[in-house]
Amino acid sequence: MANHVSFFEQVNRNFDRAAALTSHPRGLLDTIKSCNSIYHFTFPLERENGEVEVVHAWRAEHSHHKLPTKGGIRYSLDVNEDEVMALAALMTYKCAIVDAPFGGAKGGIKIDSRKYTKNELEKITRRYTFELVKKNFIGPGIDVPAPDFGTGAREMAWIVDTYTALANDKLEGAACVTGKPIAQGGIRGRTEATGRGVAFVTREVCGVEEDMKALGLSRGIEGKRVIVQGLGNVGSYTATFLQEMGATIIGLLEFDGGLYDPKGLDAQAIVAQWNALRRGEKSIHKLEVPDRAQKLASPAEGLELDCDILIPAALENQITALNVDRIKAKIIVEAANGPVTSDASETLEKRGVLIVPDHYANAGGVLVSYFEWLKNLAHVRFGRLERRFEEQAYRRILEAVEVRTGKSFTEPELKALAHGADEADLVHSGLEDTMGPAYHRLREIRAQHQVDLRTAAFIEAINKIAICYQDLGIFP
Ligand code: GLU
Repeated sequence: MANHVSFFEQVNRNFDRAAALTSHPRGLLDTIKSCNSIYHFTFPLERENGEVEVVHAWRAEHSHHKLPTKGGIRYSLDVNEDEVMALAALMTYKCAIVDAPFGGAKGGIKIDSRKYTKNELEKITRRYTFELVKKNFIGPGIDVPAPDFGTGAREMAWIVDTYTALANDKLEGAACVTGKPIAQGGIRGRTEATGRGVAFVTREVCGVEEDMKALGLSRGIEGKRVIVQGLGNVGSYTATFLQEMGATIIGLLEFDGGLYDPKGLDAQAIVAQWNALRRGEKSIHKLEVPDRAQKLASPAEGLELDCDILIPAALENQITALNVDRIKAKIIVEAANGPVTSDASETLEKRGVLIVPDHYANAGGVLVSYFEWLKNLAHVRFGRLERRFEEQAYRRILEAVEVRTGKSFTEPELKALAHGADEADLVHSGLEDTMGPAYHRLREIRAQHQVDLRTAAFIEAINKIAICYQDLGIFP
């Protein structure tokens, strides 16, 4: 295809644009940019009908400046070497931006998971893990996978089970993968972390008066008209949390269509209906269309509708040179990885659209993965030691207030005020505390260099990674 720019090239173009604004030597920048290792392997799968097919799988470790490397595993027919390398690179920059101390990695298996039975998927996942163990591409201190498009807690449970059966480090084995079910060492809040993070980010963005004014919008998330593409793990939670925060979800899009209501959809109810559909049967056309809502024949149509905020939360390359001129959103929050191509991004920026880049916007997932990894290494649930102590301390303070004021609190008031933080509270706190401040840092870099937010986020990542190499003393 003429003019075709691969996904990894697009990431690198964005990198180069930012790198030119730093003062690091070329050799150092090239070291950061290149993908360190990529492992492509195939294995035969005997289907339940007796047929044998060859499965193609990859794992890319983009950067080892910090160990372990970290990143999800996706199951999709679009998986290929270039995509895995691009996504691994984005993980490197993402981790740097939110201070998750990992290098970037990504894995993928080229299958349409909807076409396989549970047993076949288990066989594929366990074999994939086995191959990674054999080549030293997985381990708590080596490379730690997580869920991504087409995978979830169930796949992670198969991975940890296979890994611990094979590997020697039984004590730390649970930390070989994140996004696990709670009973297997997972952490509360990981499933919804990426969506919750995207919602926090969107609220933070809308909270900046100056930026909203420039876009002709009022300050605050309340009443903002939002369209979300993707009802998977990221999009479903993003829409639900944003609705809770007061946004109006006017469009929800999936692979085969969408629902649209300019007065607002009930995202929670639609997500519940979507989740109740069986795997392989999921379709927008199987959903009950709420009263005022309109059904859209294709997701492409939904991306082009008038809205304040567009949140692509599905796959890469959704907004390209082909549809960019018809995009009407004023703000685009990249919940998916690479949903806006670098050309389209430039066009939108020139038009004054505010794009919140993927490697910052969707970093909530890997951030909470970091908390899960820490929990596994520590072998203790967050809050386990201090929750009761905190509650008692708060109660003592409240009792002292009662003595001083002569007024007493009701039991429900005491319960609410003297609440000690449990694991879920601490995970939310850690997420909010990182995502919000990171945005303001990116805005400062944007102002300092007069660039867009994507370039600012790359500058931030490059500078943080560069320090790790500079300390080695090999670069001037
Ligand atoms: N797959 C997610 C991402 O793209 C999460 C990765 C992780 O938790 O390691 O960020």
